[in-house]
Amino acid sequence: MIKITLPDGSIKEYAQKSTPLDVAKSISEGLARNIVSAKFNENTVETTTPLTHDGSLVLYTWNDDEGKKAFWHSSAHILAQAILHFYPDAKLTIGPAIENGFYYDVDFGDESISENDFKKIEDQMLEFARQKFEFTMREVSKKDALDYYKKQHNEFKVELIENLTDGDITFCDHADFTDLCRGGHIPNTGFIKAIKIMSVAGAYWRGDEKNKQLTRVYGISFPKQKDLTAYLELLEEAKKRDHRKLGKELELFTFSQKVGQGLPLWLPKGAALRSRLEDFLKKAQQKAGYEMVITPHIGQKELYVTSGHYAKYGADSFQPIHTPKDDEEFLLKPMNCPHHCEIYNDRPYSYKELPKRFAEFGTVYRYEQSGELHGLTRVRGFTQDDAHIFCMQEQLDQEFKNVIDLSLYVLGSLGFENFTAQVSVRDLENPDKYIGDVKNWEKAEQAIINAANDKGLDYKIVTGEAAFYGPKLDFMVKDALGRNWQLGTIQVDYNLPERFDLTYKGSDNQLHRPVMIHRAPFGSMERFIALLLEHTGGNFPLWLTPEQAIILPISEKFEIYTKKVLNLMENYEIRALVDERNEKTGRKIRDAEVRKIPYMIIIGENEENEGVISVRRHGGEDLGKMTIEDFSVIVKKEIENTLQQFKV
Ligand SMILES: [Zn+2]
Ligand SMILES: [Zn+2]
Repeated sequence: MIKITLPDGSIKEYAQKSTPLDVAKSISEGLARNIVSAKFNENTVETTTPLTHDGSLVLYTWNDDEGKKAFWHSSAHILAQAILHFYPDAKLTIGPAIENGFYYDVDFGDESISENDFKKIEDQMLEFARQKFEFTMREVSKKDALDYYKKQHNEFKVELIENLTDGDITFCDHADFTDLCRGGHIPNTGFIKAIKIMSVAGAYWRGDEKNKQLTRVYGISFPKQKDLTAYLELLEEAKKRDHRKLGKELELFTFSQKVGQGLPLWLPKGAALRSRLEDFLKKAQQKAGYEMVITPHIGQKELYVTSGHYAKYGADSFQPIHTPKDDEEFLLKPMNCPHHCEIYNDRPYSYKELPKRFAEFGTVYRYEQSGELHGLTRVRGFTQDDAHIFCMQEQLDQEFKNVIDLSLYVLGSLGFENFTAQVSVRDLENPDKYIGDVKNWEKAEQAIINAANDKGLDYKIVTGEAAFYGPKLDFMVKDALGRNWQLGTIQVDYNLPERFDLTYKGSDNQLHRPVMIHRAPFGSMERFIALLLEHTGGNFPLWLTPEQAIILPISEKFEIYTKKVLNLMENYEIRALVDERNEKTGRKIRDAEVRKIPYMIIIGENEENEGVISVRRHGGEDLGKMTIEDFSVIVKKEIENTLQQFKV
């Protein structure tokens, strides 16, 4: 008998050579039907691998990331099988599972494939899938493995095998198809019920452009047809919500090749939206005891040598700016922290004055390769809603809680309800990696965990992910399409206070080192607005949206009344504009819908005579006739419902 430990800590005895599938069966028939992969003592195993000794076992279904990986890895085998079915001379190279699906890199020789071939490949793959071929692993000697692929004249697999150790090489067979493989498959091909070939692209063998160019065939597969349908719908929706597309349609931002790639230009509406977002945070920060500071966009190279940023990132950053005389060197500011340290150093502090909290919407510049740039999410210049808190070690606990409160307020006001946090702590086995006093580290980690518990955050602790200078907490936000975005970080720092020799006078009249906290709830304004665009599909909360209402007079006859309505709206501080075009009302309504303006105000003869307006909500709901004052109450209430005041 062998002892198997399950994830819930329970230990059960099984006969020698029981498989993960047997273990699943002993738990429930349902689980046995659904398991697609397993991990035994940290190694991926087949569901049919006989277990010969004690150990811990995790069973995975489609719903687990590991399960999807096995599913898609197995699908890549079937893709390769189908490709050889149609293109017997094609040479297979590698075919891994990826975040969404799988691919296979293939040398098609003189042949090529295009979108027109996708359907026949999908159909053939489904045909293979239906036959429920089992995946079986077998060990092969290096010599046999080499012979097998040499016979096929596949120099790619030969190269892969040459780098493997004899005794460590396995093949996977299903049907009459064989592939070099380390394992990790679903029990049989029958689990796969829906397949889509997504695209083809060029890819160099081993990612090196000196090597031969191959064809990468991307695909995705699912255990149910309806999962594929839902996935394709999600892709369609994501395309519609792409912030680059919406940013253009809503006239928020643009890029200019002349100005330079990765350097966003904010158009009037985008700039106004962004400053509303900044004002919103400034107001909350003021209540929370932050003081605004302003620092320049460049700093002497020496500043970043002191901070350590130059040694770490200098070579991969924008290179120094040289002055025409005096031979001075400046760097574009990659981070605001060194500047804020020097603001702290402007005068001595007593312990009674701490914490000091300096905040700045500070624009920083970081070099990104042109291929890495993407809309507002990957840029070369961006503005952080940055702040640095300088406090005593014993204040860390409270400060961390305060920062979490502020971050939760920000997320809540912008309609993010689905988020988790990650607490990154030291790797205790590598104590030399970290600077600062061990006791302080323990306290800081505990402070973060206490704060996360106290605030009821759904968080996980990740060992070894802390920076060398301190532990941190990151917020992960799930957007409306279920995609994860990493947002604001709260980071403890023992390093910069040392490097900048920051001190305060304690109650004992001696000088002490303060601890520093870096934090930015939005992260970067650019990236946050991109996320907000994709999350809301451009339907911003009413308090934030560029225009809250659009007035649609049904003809020019009502010009004077329209002006009056617009004036009154301004008096009520409602952001409104007029569609003055000589178009039919239906057309004006449709265009206002596209522009995602929350309220449409329709004005005609009845409205003018009665001194009222007709109100229609974005999306079609008709609110009927009302006075402008009544409308202002609706607007005010809606804003109050989403935007509460920050309370300390
Ligand atoms: Zn495989
Ligand atoms: Zn910082």
